[in-house]
Amino acid sequence: MQLIENFFNKDECDFAISEIMSYKNHWYNCAETDMFVVGNSLLRKQDFDKNGNKDYSNYLNSKDLYFKTLEIFKEKISKEFLETKFCSFLPKPGFQIINTSGSKNPAVWHYDDILTFYPYDVEFSDYKNNFPNYFESFYIFNLMLTDTQSNFDYFPETNSNFLNVLPAETPICKEHVNLVGDNCPNSSCKLKEFKSISYSRGSLLIQKDERILHRVGIRDINGKDEMRITLTGYGVVKNNVMYLYW
Ligand SMILES: [Zn+2]
Repeated sequence: MQLIENFFNKDECDFAISEIMSYKNHWYNCAETDMFVVGNSLLRKQDFDKNGNKDYSNYLNSKDLYFKTLEIFKEKISKEFLETKFCSFLPKPGFQIINTSGSKNPAVWHYDDILTFYPYDVEFSDYKNNFPNYFESFYIFNLMLTDTQSNFDYFPETNSNFLNVLPAETPICKEHVNLVGDNCPNSSCKLKEFKSISYSRGSLLIQKDERILHRVGIRDINGKDEMRITLTGYGVVKNNVMYLYW
C-alpha cells in the first residue's frame, strides 16, 4: 500500500467537486452499499443472463460522462508512474460519494475480487480469462477529494495475490467477507484487530498487486452529515502501459 499526499492540490479537489455537483442528476444510489456513485462501475452495472452467466452489455454500452478531472488524474498518473491511457472500451474511473451521517453499509469488508471478472478481452484481444498471469501489474486507486475524516481499514494478515486464491477463495475468515461492522459470526475467527490508514484531502491511496480484506473506514461514518467523496478506479499494466477503467 502506498499513500501519496497532495497528489491533487486544494484547487484541483475543489474543481473535481464542482464537476461532480454539476452532474447531480447522474448520481446513482447503490442499494447494497448505500453510497452514491457517478460513472459506470462494473460493480454497479453487472447483470446476468437467464442462464446465470455474466451479461456485460449494460456495462459496456453505457456512455461515460465527461470529467476534466479524470484527464488531470490520468496526466498525473502518467507523470508519477508510467505511460497511462484510458481503456477504449471499458468505462473510465468514477466517483464515490458517502454520506457520513448515513448507514454503515459503505464500510463493508470486502476483497476487490471484481478485478478478475472484467471482460478484458474487449480491450486485449488475446486475454483469456487469465487475470493473474496476463497483466504485469494492477493498481487500485482512491483519491480523496473532500476535507472529511477519511480512513482505509484493512487486515494485513489477509494480504495475498489472486494467483494463490483463484477461484475467489478467501483466506483466514470467509464470514468476514461482506460483513458490516465487527461482529463476525464465525466463532473461531482469527481476524481480531484491523489497521487503519488515514488520508487527507488530495491524498492518493494505492493498492498495487495486492488482494487484501478492507473497507471504507468505519469511523468515517460519524454522524456529521458531510459528503466524503473519492475518485476511484483501477489500472492494469500491459507492455509497460497503464490502462485505466472502473
Ligand atoms: Zn471473521
